[in-house]
Amino acid sequence: MRLVMKFGGTGVNSGKKVREIANLIKAQHHDSTNDVVVVVSAIRGMTDDIFSITDNIKDGQKVSVENFMKKVRPFHLDILRNAITNEGIMKKAELVVTQLLDELENVLAGIVLLAEVTPKSLDYLLSFGERLSTPIVSYTLQDIGIKSEHLTGREVGILTDSNFGEARPLMDTTKLRVAHKITPMLKDGVVPVVTGFIGADQNGITTTIGRGGSDYTATIIAASIKADEVWLWSDVNGLMTADPKIVKDAQVLKEVSFAEAMEMALFGAKYIHPRSFYPVIDSNIPIRVRNAFNVNHPGTIITQRPAKASQKIVKSISAIRHTALIDVSGGDMAGSPGTASRIFDILAKNRVNIMMISQSPSESSISMVVRKSDLDKATTALELNLLGKIIKKVNVNDDVAVIAVVGSGMRGIKGVAAKIFGSVASRNVNVVMIAQGSSELNLAFVVNDDDCNVVVRALHTEFKLVSLSVKQKNIPRKG
Ligand code: ASP
Ligand code: MG
Repeated sequence: MRLVMKFGGTGVNSGKKVREIANLIKAQHHDSTNDVVVVVSAIRGMTDDIFSITDNIKDGQKVSVENFMKKVRPFHLDILRNAITNEGIMKKAELVVTQLLDELENVLAGIVLLAEVTPKSLDYLLSFGERLSTPIVSYTLQDIGIKSEHLTGREVGILTDSNFGEARPLMDTTKLRVAHKITPMLKDGVVPVVTGFIGADQNGITTTIGRGGSDYTATIIAASIKADEVWLWSDVNGLMTADPKIVKDAQVLKEVSFAEAMEMALFGAKYIHPRSFYPVIDSNIPIRVRNAFNVNHPGTIITQRPAKASQKIVKSISAIRHTALIDVSGGDMAGSPGTASRIFDILAKNRVNIMMISQSPSESSISMVVRKSDLDKATTALELNLLGKIIKKVNVNDDVAVIAVVGSGMRGIKGVAAKIFGSVASRNVNVVMIAQGSSELNLAFVVNDDDCNVVVRALHTEFKLVSLSVKQKNIPRKG
């Protein structure tokens, strides 16, 4: 078997955990019977911390950089020292990690003087999260007797465009480069440990591929080396019928399709970078979502075409909480072509991502859901550019939840919508907005955030999702 295994930030946030995942990797490597490539995220919290330090830098707060370094330096070194036992290996790891930390400190000092963080320098700063976590994992593997090397996204060959923050990989070149780099390592029994989330553009400048991008790195590598499977290890058992924080008896889904997983990924308890699916869909490589701290659980497998038995009408009820609804109406909107495009264009130019859209057939209003953090930006942009011109009124509801009912079995089945809205109405909840794509894979609607939990629970019961449960069992190790 050829496996790409990705570990998220919670898998590496203590020395003990790093050691645990190293042992897990060793077990799967199985004395080199399997080829294993490891992708690692930044240690939990590090990426967020880098984001917030850059905000402080823009405000010219020099002290906060010092405090930041006082925190991240021992944080990484402690994890490393607790993970590695052999002194010689520990020394080598310390050297690599300390050099990176020094470099980070210097870069921050320079940026503080400028009090400006460009998208390009932000990506460079962000790259330290993953550049620091990978050597820790790689040296820990060496410590338990596995040949291993750590590589950055650039070193492994991930070439992207120069759209810093959301760079797109240029897949054809990337595939060639990654295969060229990794295949000989695998032949030698080496386990490459690669930074998730980061690549480099044509000029070799560091880029990042979007929040949560380590999943995407894993699938890019898998497609490049024609892996048999991608395993995304995290701290949850798999994709679920609902968020277990909302529905107590939510169940792990045994099998879902790529299309369903894409819908669930954004909403569910386990976030998966939505673009992660593209490289593996093309090459039809299954993804398993598994719990690194409950390895006997089989997790969820995501494939092109799940077995008949798992093709239920509705598979999951998920929610994105605390979002905002903007309703624009009036003016010259009705019957004038190009209105929607102007609205979306203004929002796009201001980097507001629209999560959901619906328009009435009278064309007199358009409703959109955006992240709460984008609401201010969005309304300002609309007011400045369009109010009094094509728009007469901008209405806002600043705390709504988007609820999505997902399942490919919904396609062409009559009565699903009636069942959904009947159930919502029976709980006395008002539906604010509805959208269904013509793929009929997903029906999404908006309610006030206060009503979210009641609705999710009601639908979970209505569609009998508890009966989808999978029994825990050991999955045999394939050789
Ligand atoms: N460290 C990056 C983030 O927090 C990438 C990832 O974790 O997948 O977004
Ligand atoms: Mg993640």
